[in-house]
Amino acid sequence: MENKIYSTAIIGGGPAGYSAALFCARAGLDTVVLEKLSAGGQMAETGKIENYPGFDDGIDGFELGMKMEKSALKFGAESKYCRVISADLKSNPKVIKTTDGYILSHSVIIATGAFPRKLAIKDEEKLIGKGVAYCAYCDGMMYKGKTVAVIGGGDSAAEDALYLSSICHKVYLIHRRDKLRASESYIKALEKYNNIELILNAEPLEFIHGDTLTGIRLGNTADNHIFDLDCNAVFVAIGRVPESEIFKDQLETDKYGYIKAGEDCATNIVGVFAAGDIRTKALRQVVTAVADGANAAKSAKDYIDI
Ligand code: NAP
Repeated sequence: MENKIYSTAIIGGGPAGYSAALFCARAGLDTVVLEKLSAGGQMAETGKIENYPGFDDGIDGFELGMKMEKSALKFGAESKYCRVISADLKSNPKVIKTTDGYILSHSVIIATGAFPRKLAIKDEEKLIGKGVAYCAYCDGMMYKGKTVAVIGGGDSAAEDALYLSSICHKVYLIHRRDKLRASESYIKALEKYNNIELILNAEPLEFIHGDTLTGIRLGNTADNHIFDLDCNAVFVAIGRVPESEIFKDQLETDKYGYIKAGEDCATNIVGVFAAGDIRTKALRQVVTAVADGANAAKSAKDYIDI
């Protein structure tokens, strides 16, 4: 076991993680970021990010991740590329077991994020950025004036359809059941837009595509007939999966698995903070993750100092 005890160990090197690292390091905390894949986390897999201020031509998600890492390392934060296996968050110092050994730290910021649930149909991964998308707010503008489909029957799908209806020529909202599970207020709002068409009892079977997506093949769940819809993009909105599994025995989460924490990012365990998409919050975007990172760093600094 390493003898060194960090002031703050940050689990997850996405925008929340590296923003926290930047603020912690600048506040003089001995800081390490533990990232399993590459700087930027899920953001690194995003093509162009156009809704993060300061980049008038947008910026590639991977490049922004690298820049965020560089900014934090410049002030003395360390990056370690390893997977966290488990953590004892109640001990003092806190003990994190990784694929690369143990990390000891007085405080921990969890910034592990949440990933969109996939449809798990053929060529889904291959078409990401070429017609398959998971974030209407991020990628909607790419399909301005075009025809798009949203998959899902919950509040996220309804919200995405409403948002896209103001940008796109036509929006299909496709749900596998005979009625939406979205809240009544969303259902009423959907009825007001004549460019939103609701397609019920329809299950996605196949993406129709060449180099890019041109449509989706659907199966009617009531009578089993198969039919195709032409569209330029499919937005998958069938729920998100927070990466909180290894902490859920120690930290309070909501019924979806998001770690309960307010704007100060404090969790039910002292010295443990949750920042970014993993936290209970209304809007999950790069810009709100970055804000969380700063708030979590302030809370960690206060915890260490007081
Ligand atoms: P959700 O409520 O779990 O809905 C997921 C939807 O996707 C369900 O309709 C489900 O169908 C469908 N689905 C799941 N797997 C599928 C598959 N493989 N193929 C086709 N369809 C599939 O998730 P959510 O809409 O992301 O909402 C999560 C939580 O966030 C909810 O509590 C919601 O109220 C909240 N939220 C709130 C707001 C807001 O208040 N502004 C906005 C967004 C989300 P079934 O119905 O058949 O299960």
